[in-house]
Amino acid sequence: MGIIKPDIKFKRELGRLSGSQLNQCMQCGNCSAVCSLAPAERPFPGKEMVWSGWGLKEKLIGNVDIWLCHQCGDCSSYCPRDVKPADVISAIRHQTYLHYARPRFLGKLVSSPAWLPVAIAIPVVVIMAILSLAGTFKIPEGPVDYSAFFPHGLLNSTFSAITLFFYLLASFGIVRFWKDMKRLTPPGEAGMKKFPIARVLGEILSHSNFSGCGSQQLRKIAHMSLFFGFGLLILVTLYAIWATITHNYPLPFTNPFKIAGNVASLMIYSGLGIMVFQRLMNRSVFGKSSYSDWLLLAAIGLLTLSGTLVELARFGNWSVAYHLYFFHLVAVWFVIMYLPFTKMGHIFYRTTALLYARSIGRK
Ligand code: SF4
Ligand code: SF4
Repeated sequence: MGIIKPDIKFKRELGRLSGSQLNQCMQCGNCSAVCSLAPAERPFPGKEMVWSGWGLKEKLIGNVDIWLCHQCGDCSSYCPRDVKPADVISAIRHQTYLHYARPRFLGKLVSSPAWLPVAIAIPVVVIMAILSLAGTFKIPEGPVDYSAFFPHGLLNSTFSAITLFFYLLASFGIVRFWKDMKRLTPPGEAGMKKFPIARVLGEILSHSNFSGCGSQQLRKIAHMSLFFGFGLLILVTLYAIWATITHNYPLPFTNPFKIAGNVASLMIYSGLGIMVFQRLMNRSVFGKSSYSDWLLLAAIGLLTLSGTLVELARFGNWSVAYHLYFFHLVAVWFVIMYLPFTKMGHIFYRTTALLYARSIGRK
């Protein structure tokens, strides 16, 4: 077995992100005892707190248990030394996105305020370049018609290709994550089961892990609103792409998919509203909100709001319709293309970790 070296820089970063005094942990194990999601064998987050105090990055990045935690905050509430284990676990997840991001600057781009101007400038410049090459980078005359500004075929092909490119880069990180989980938490003698895809899908869709985790029912409702609102919006977007190909676009207000899109927006507004309220009003339980937390909430909020305004601008023939549309496209890039490198990356990392955990019988 190789020698594991403490990484003091990593430890400091965990302390900074979580606002936790890691050296104050007295290893009492209370946090593991109260966690309703921790397995009986090698429970979390007690052992992770010890490793964090020692700066054992190699044991923490790629640790499957970090992703079984659903951030209810119970462990922090019962910690006698106020070390905030829930926030430390969240900080380790944040470090995981950065660790597996390739190229590395993509992780930094969405995790540091200093990089925000660059993160915004990239989609602005690329979209301007696409429109300039297409010769449509000007305000069209007549009633609002977004396809005269950004032809649908060009929009669908360029945005799909860019999204696939970003997700392909992210997939390399996920493969490395899987290998690290196997190395750090190898399957027992029984080996690995077949992929329990249906079971993991059931856990995700039902949000059953939120129910088993503390008493934060409101947080479960907020997450479900965002999750299903987003899912519905993706379905509506796929239909809209198909509609542009079959020349059945734009959709009238009364089209069922249009109505579904507006319902999805309402679900996202509700989920976001609850999350922001909880982060502001319930800090002792919810923990410290980082720059990445706020950036993600702001990006999703601006994406949804700009989508609503773009729709109203088309029906109302607003003079600023194309400016709003440009802003909306930048917001789409920010949330969808950067997704694997932001906190939204948990969609991939948590799903992969759940698949691994359940396939080795870790419950
Ligand atoms: S983090 Fe708190 S509850 Fe957990 S072992 Fe350390 S002191 Fe005990
Ligand atoms: S935040 Fe909740 S789920 Fe996560 S380790 Fe603490 S008690 Fe367990």
